Amino acid sequence: MIQENLKKVEEEIRRACERAGRSEQDVTLVCVSKTKPAEMIQEAYDLGKREFGENKAQEMKEKEEILPKDIHWHFIGHLQTNKIKYVLGRACLIHSVDSLHLAQAIEAECQKRELEADILVEINVAREASKFGLGIEGAEQLIRDISRLSHLHIQGLMTVAPFVEEPEENRIIFRQLKQLSVDIKGKNIDNVNMNVLSMGMTGDYQVAIEEGATHVRVGTGIFGERNYKR
Ligand SMILES: *Cc1c(COP(=O)(O)O)cnc(C)c1O
Repeated sequence: MIQENLKKVEEEIRRACERAGRSEQDVTLVCVSKTKPAEMIQEAYDLGKREFGENKAQEMKEKEEILPKDIHWHFIGHLQTNKIKYVLGRACLIHSVDSLHLAQAIEAECQKRELEADILVEINVAREASKFGLGIEGAEQLIRDISRLSHLHIQGLMTVAPFVEEPEENRIIFRQLKQLSVDIKGKNIDNVNMNVLSMGMTGDYQVAIEEGATHVRVGTGIFGERNYKR
């Protein structure tokens, strides 16, 4: 099943790149393996996949310890400060930094362990509706504040778009995040890169690629529905 799903997703990525006049090499498929057993990750690994996404620190740690060491783990979930220790040194990229408080806590742990961390700033583009997270209006100030933390390196932006039946509904959100990354890049802030745009999930990754996503995070489309009731 995983093999067929991967083939389908990769074909869709290829087509979306073609429509957008982009190179396939510029889009990284992050296989979101949260809640799924290590055997399924190993299966995708054996098919050549190396980028996996997890949203729970402890779960990522446990999987990292038993799976091949050349996997690149992407941390994509809400990160509690007391769990930072599990993620640092394991994740190649933390996609979900949405407050100065969290960034400072990561910086402190990095200092302690003499590590550095690549991060994305998570923006809730559709914030008007939900009021959770950091909206577009607060992004520049937060990025400037985080840029002064010497062990952290902002590589770009991430968003989780709302769940919608019709992926076109999220196009405006992806477009706004892309525009924000262009605006921030134009400010030339020290220690800030805008090379990564992490957006698009199973329901809408094609649209996200058309709007400039460099990383799409696909779970269900590869590993099937998740069962949270284990
Ligand atoms: C679960 C999750 C995904 C993948 O969602 P699917 O709809 O299963 O593709 C992507 N990003 C984040 C942040 C997630 O938590």
